[in-house]
Amino acid sequence: MDISDLFDGLNEAQREAVGAAPGNLLILAGAGSGKTRVLTHRIAFLVRTGQASSYGILAVTFTNKAAREMRARIEALLETPASGMWVGTFHGIAHRLLRAHWQEAGLPQGFAILDSEDQHRLIKRLIREMNIDDSRVPPRQVQWFINAKKDEGLRPQHLEEGYDYQQKMMIELYHAYEEACQRNGVVDFAELLLRALELLRDHSDLLDHYRKRFRHILVDEFQDTNTIQYAWIRLLAGKQGQVFAVGDDDQSIYGWRGAKVENLQQFQRDLADVQLIRLEQNYRSTATILNAANALIAHNSDRLGKNLWTEGVEGEAIRLYTAFNELDEARFAAERIQDWCAQGRRRDEVAILYRSNAQSRVLEEAMMHARIPYRIYGGLRFFERAEIKDALAYLRLLANRHDDPSFERVVNTPTRGIGNRTVEIVREQARATAVSMWQAASDILASQSLPARASNALAAFLALLNSMDDNSQQALLDERVEYVIAHSGLIEFFSKEKGEKGRARIENLEELVSAARQFEFEDEWLEDVAQGSPGMDELNAFLAHAALESGATQATADEEAVQMMTLHTAKGLEFPLVFMVGMEEELFPHKLSIDEPGRLEEERRLAYVGITRAMEQLYLSHAEVRRLYGEEKYTRPSRFIRDIPAELLHEVRMGGGSGQPHYRPAEAQAVQGELHFGQQVRHPKFGHGVVLNSEGSGAQARVQVNFEEVGKKWLVLAYARLEVIE
Ligand code: ATP
Ligand code: MG
Repeated sequence: MDISDLFDGLNEAQREAVGAAPGNLLILAGAGSGKTRVLTHRIAFLVRTGQASSYGILAVTFTNKAAREMRARIEALLETPASGMWVGTFHGIAHRLLRAHWQEAGLPQGFAILDSEDQHRLIKRLIREMNIDDSRVPPRQVQWFINAKKDEGLRPQHLEEGYDYQQKMMIELYHAYEEACQRNGVVDFAELLLRALELLRDHSDLLDHYRKRFRHILVDEFQDTNTIQYAWIRLLAGKQGQVFAVGDDDQSIYGWRGAKVENLQQFQRDLADVQLIRLEQNYRSTATILNAANALIAHNSDRLGKNLWTEGVEGEAIRLYTAFNELDEARFAAERIQDWCAQGRRRDEVAILYRSNAQSRVLEEAMMHARIPYRIYGGLRFFERAEIKDALAYLRLLANRHDDPSFERVVNTPTRGIGNRTVEIVREQARATAVSMWQAASDILASQSLPARASNALAAFLALLNSMDDNSQQALLDERVEYVIAHSGLIEFFSKEKGEKGRARIENLEELVSAARQFEFEDEWLEDVAQGSPGMDELNAFLAHAALESGATQATADEEAVQMMTLHTAKGLEFPLVFMVGMEEELFPHKLSIDEPGRLEEERRLAYVGITRAMEQLYLSHAEVRRLYGEEKYTRPSRFIRDIPAELLHEVRMGGGSGQPHYRPAEAQAVQGELHFGQQVRHPKFGHGVVLNSEGSGAQARVQVNFEEVGKKWLVLAYARLEVIE
């Protein structure tokens, strides 16, 4: 068989990796050196040489998006659908196993996935029920504790008894939390991994089956595996399996979430005869960008060390922009994107990367203002928006009445006269008799112990859910979702919320129906699972998808859009034009990391990840004043800017090369002097209005204007270009 095409377009070291003899392999290499490419080609190589069938391959990537792309690339190389091949994230794969073997895993058939907000809510409830002092044992900390223990593979019974109040309570809460999850048939993210590990560890027949099946395990982004993921790979590989791991210690950015970069070295000790291959040529970025990245990461100690070079062009200097404030920074990015498009380039070649999710809002506004379509990965996750979670809670209750977090969420949303007191009684009864809240509510109604009004309201809620279930059972998934949204009263409820916000919520609910419609043909593997697990109906599959997939569905169809995401989410991706915004001390590096050398180095690796996403052109920007989390602060430029040699940087000012400052304080102050309450003004875009209020002075000055057309707005005077009408 001719497989030479698989080796075309690969360098010597890459060929060695793709065509390596059977065995364990570790590819240790820097950013953009072709790790993911090599992994994909290796899979095609194994299948096309007959060493494996696609059924025998398990490939782990970091995001669902990466998994989809990888599958598409493999199929292109194989020229056939890679049916039977498992390609997914650790969580996705664990989930798949648990669905197929729910009984062995000790789970109810229709188990639901608890996301981090639900988890927080449940923990808060337990703290309240157990009369624990939440000032000494804060729910977030408990949540973190439980997840960290699970990531290490530890159940509450494995923990030594606590030595102080806090520790004791944490462990007790972990116990109570586990019981509650089990009772409600819900599984959190960390639990997916731990359960899947225990499932294989405790069922030798299953382990045997999967070991025989998955002789080839390939893992991308290996530097970010945590203890349990690593244990899982080892267990599944056994002695016969062949593991192909690729990673870059300089890109390990999930230490804060339990990832263990040491696994790179551990792997070489734990597995038999690991062949190590290094890739040193970078194919992604210009020499300028690569040199900047290399110089930056050299400031970290404790690296495995590698030498990354490129034959590529030198490329343009990295542009550095000092913005006046975050609005200016966002507008700057929008204008540069317009320039890019004006040169005939595509919007989807552009990414804006930021450290903190909250930064996205201002950027989004600037994009909307400039009419630039954009898409957000992660962050403002569609499936995490309140109204979507409400709708999903109804759907989850249809799938499983005993899902307490969902019950709590919507029992009185929209308001239907079920007061806190009634909910409290139901909760108490559920706890006392160790049943779900749904069951407890039914029992309470049967015993007729509630006052008539409360009892009627509660009975109406239970009846509503039962009737929604009956009436939508036979419908297609999207019709079912639509039906439930319409009959839950959520639309009416949110239409009372006036203005943009309420409208956006209703649009989101409508979008959920489209998500359900698209879902049917998208996720083939869930169908596949449904066959192995008859109880996994379409609704359940959709709900699981909603929990796992947060973020992807909000993308506006196939529209060509600018990509916005956190630096963490950008891992593994590449874009011709990249903006790294908010390059400021305390924002990036994040203020919690500055005093801890280990965490500071992790932040620097994150900066390295960001820079190495850029192929042709990179913009760094920082704002002198930033309003974030509702607070305005003067800032200092990030130390990571200083880590880059000055000769690679070029400072830009607004207005292209003209050198004209975009901000004219003197002029703004003059205007400010003329403004007073009731002053009539004209704005180039918003038209005619009247000044209502003003605050700050100089660069900070803002005015509030009531415009005839668009209503009240706060404007930064320096930008507003307001004309005073005599
Ligand atoms: P990261 O560390 O960011 O995940 P990576 O090591 O996985 O990067 P890839 O994404 O596989 O790198 O490759 C980076 C880019 O270089 C891709 O566009 C890829 O197609 C290209 N590339 C890789 N190897 C070669 C090669 N031998 N010739 C030409 N292009 C290549
Ligand atoms: Mg990669």
